[in-house]
Amino acid sequence: MENKNAKRIIIANWKMNPETLSEAKEILSAIKKEAKKIENINIVVAPPAIYLGRFKTGESDDVKLAAQNMHWEEKGAFTGEISSLMLKDAGVEYVIVGHSERRNYFGETDEIINKKLILALKNRLTPILCVGESFEEKRAEKTPEIIKSQLTKALENIRQKQVQSKNLLIAYEPVWAIGSGTTPSYDDVLSANLLIRKTINSIYGRGIAEKIPLLYGGSVNAKNAGGFIEKSRADGLLVGGASIKATEFLGIIRQLSII
Ligand code: PEP
Repeated sequence: MENKNAKRIIIANWKMNPETLSEAKEILSAIKKEAKKIENINIVVAPPAIYLGRFKTGESDDVKLAAQNMHWEEKGAFTGEISSLMLKDAGVEYVIVGHSERRNYFGETDEIINKKLILALKNRLTPILCVGESFEEKRAEKTPEIIKSQLTKALENIRQKQVQSKNLLIAYEPVWAIGSGTTPSYDDVLSANLLIRKTINSIYGRGIAEKIPLLYGGSVNAKNAGGFIEKSRADGLLVGGASIKATEFLGIIRQLSII
């Protein structure tokens, strides 16, 4: 995004947590209380789908909602799935697409991810596209190749017009860093971010490449959060495990609010 005055963004990916609606409400209300005091950060919470309808937010709400997943078709015989239109109706504004847990445990291919992106953009949900290499790919020094390939395939047949302004976010999430307590160096994340901007530049041109918000995700906590913004030039963070511990997550928000 490369604009000092632009708002940072923090996405909380709760994954399949917490176990009860009352716990979920408790965490959300702690986050909302903090959000009221903080103006320079966009806070987005991605709870399990079953809680989304219960958390319906409005235009003026300080905390926005994201879905962790959606189907690539608008409606039909897809038992167990949730559509983009249902998400819109529930007040959801963002959707995570291409998370490595979906790629690895649910067999999501680049083609499926591409279809989901196309539909999310069509129905005015802002996709948070996740890309990142596995440990084996990192060891084989294939990180740049993987990032480029995942990005290019995800954005196939999506025209420049459809990704104007801030209606697409890209999160660099090395698979080996997710939930592991290990993170890449700030320099490595900086290199990934530069490569992502370069790849976007080659697909959509400089205007979009400079503006598209880039996030980092993978074992972010209150101690390391600031560095990804200051040293790796990320515009925001995608936080998993630490986002369901209210104290830790509020610590991350405060860190970002002062840099
Ligand atoms: C994630 O699930 O996107 C993630 C970044 O998880 P964690 O923060 O737990 O590594």
